[in-house]
Amino acid sequence: MIRTIESPTSVARVETLLEYLSPSAVKDYLGCSLRYFFGRVLRLPQPASESLVLGKAVHAALRLLHLARWRDEPFEPQTALTEFDEALHEFIEADELSLSVDDLDALKTKGRDMVDAYSRSEHCSDGRKVLGVEIALREHFPHLPADLAGQVDLILETPEGELVPVDFKTCANTPNPEIEAFQHELQLVFYQLLIEAATERKVAYREIVYITKHKTPRVIVQQIPAADEIAIERFWRMIESVHDGVLDERWVPQPGMQCAWCSFRRDCVRWSGKGGAS
Ligand code: SF4
Repeated sequence: MIRTIESPTSVARVETLLEYLSPSAVKDYLGCSLRYFFGRVLRLPQPASESLVLGKAVHAALRLLHLARWRDEPFEPQTALTEFDEALHEFIEADELSLSVDDLDALKTKGRDMVDAYSRSEHCSDGRKVLGVEIALREHFPHLPADLAGQVDLILETPEGELVPVDFKTCANTPNPEIEAFQHELQLVFYQLLIEAATERKVAYREIVYITKHKTPRVIVQQIPAADEIAIERFWRMIESVHDGVLDERWVPQPGMQCAWCSFRRDCVRWSGKGGAS
């Protein structure tokens, strides 16, 4: 199949892409600008994975648990499991993921165990107040022509009145907290700046909740101090670099570990930098 891109189409899409920047888009560009180009400018299809649909279905079930907590309504763990089952089927169908009956059963069991583990965890019903569930935020900052936008899984308020953005991660293995905090710092600064701009209140600390895919899933909570001045300046340098790179249509292959799970390898090796993919 021949795939080409003409410059005017590319420019039009780039303008749209620069209306706002999200954590996933920024990470995508910083990880490999050519992968960003294939996925977000050319919009080449990317096959879904079991891991992706599992993560989305677990998030859907957790959303229900947190909404009940937000509304101070009682909830049954079974309700979250039913939500997980329905969401899993919806995402598999929407993403056209083909699974054997055995693989589907295994995926369903794994996800149900993860949702059950979280619904019984201390984190699910600790004393902090829920201020928002899957809140979409978008703000303009003077540092950049584009807005910043992101969706925060959960916003909690401590008994002392401090704000805490929470992000949920599903992971295959027990996470290494130091490496995870480093890898997710960009996303966490995104959330901190968006929440502080929307509420005019300070974020006390950030929290990542990992739910592992072990046979007996573990729920691990990591608290990370709020980003300081240096971290925020560093963040803006990265964001500016992404903004200018997309605006100038700078796409280059950045071979590395990420190529192992990149779905554009065939397009990548055939890319010459002249006129897009061919
Ligand atoms: S294969 Fe590697 S270098 Fe090529 S687009 Fe994908 S991530 Fe980038």
